[in-house]
Amino acid sequence: MSGLDLDKIAAAKLWLIGTPAGQESGPEVPRDLPYLATGLYALIAVPEEHVPRMTCDEWWRIYVNPAWLTAATVPEVGAELAHLLWHLLAEHATRARDQDVDRSTAKAWDYCADFTIAHTLEPDLLRPPELPTAQSRGYPVGRSAEEYYAFFVKADTQASQGTGPLGPGEGCGSGADGIRREHEQPPDTDLGAVSTVEAAVIRERVAIDYRDHARQRGTDPAGLLRWVDQILTPHVPWEPLLSGAVRRGIGWAAGRGDYTYTRPSRRAGTLRGVILPGQHRAVPRVSMVIDTSGSVDDDMLARAVAEVDAAIAALGLPGSYVTVHAVDAAVHTTRAVRSARRVELVGAGGTDLRIGLRAVEEERPRPDVVIVFTDGFTPWPATPPPGAAVIIALLRRRDWPLPETPSWATVVECVVD
Ligand SMILES: [Zn+2]
Repeated sequence: MSGLDLDKIAAAKLWLIGTPAGQESGPEVPRDLPYLATGLYALIAVPEEHVPRMTCDEWWRIYVNPAWLTAATVPEVGAELAHLLWHLLAEHATRARDQDVDRSTAKAWDYCADFTIAHTLEPDLLRPPELPTAQSRGYPVGRSAEEYYAFFVKADTQASQGTGPLGPGEGCGSGADGIRREHEQPPDTDLGAVSTVEAAVIRERVAIDYRDHARQRGTDPAGLLRWVDQILTPHVPWEPLLSGAVRRGIGWAAGRGDYTYTRPSRRAGTLRGVILPGQHRAVPRVSMVIDTSGSVDDDMLARAVAEVDAAIAALGLPGSYVTVHAVDAAVHTTRAVRSARRVELVGAGGTDLRIGLRAVEEERPRPDVVIVFTDGFTPWPATPPPGAAVIIALLRRRDWPLPETPSWATVVECVVD
């Protein structure tokens, strides 16, 4: 592209990702950040005189001032590239939207996002001197952009007064805050653009490469492993997923026509998507199979059972009992209880839940909903108990391998750290 010293940008990328040859030191020595390569080579450089140095948009274009580029050293260019790349990797534009950032608050948000980037870049001596740090504002180090933004907007009114509406080229660009600047190109020009889907793939690649890099070096100086975890294993709270599956399972059983209703439940209006039986009618029957083998963590089990108990209680099924089977390689207890928490769980041997599900099949009347609590390391029968919706609460720790589960069940992963 005319007007931009593309060789210098290429040199700056190599300076960021290259490995130092020996014990050399000094500003020219490569920064040894090979995991940034996928992100750096996705950036699309555009000459733009109205920005002081560089800004980025949401499509991974970087707008570079040609005169600044000519005057800047390779390490200065590299530091700015790393700064903008982290806005894109950290999804600051999307997160700004989640915080309702607008033209009047975009600069404050950019500032807060820059605190977190400064923290990431500092151990590699990459922080551009213009990038503000949390310490310089008297804020604690290592917080999220959202936390700093809360300080800024809610508490630090003086600071936010100093950040008015955006002029052209102000702040770090829409790639940092989601607010389009006048100099930025629309997404569909022939400049090229990194789509949202492509960006997710790039983020994942960088996260995997960083994890490998940190493992090899045995260090995590920038504290990025938390970011890596979020990218590679996003934390979704399982509690609402499990109680939702239970509610849907029972709602499905209640709604499929085996029950006749003379009048609607008074609660029906308050629980969306769930049809509740009226009083004095048969209600869906629930059975639980609880894996009590030694490999199942008691705390995880207690949390999951409590969640399901609460979900069932919230449905307010009149006169309902739950049948609980405590199973390892044999069925130890089978009891009808009001609350599964009351069952003393016996057993700590190997696991074969086929035995527990067979016990469920023998129940009369047959259950409509079967909830299985297990770590999943068990053989499964080829078919579910006839006529029952099966929910598996799969109790696992994040780094455990994912066991195979039957396709005839709804599986909710209950992951604890
Ligand atoms: Zn920035």
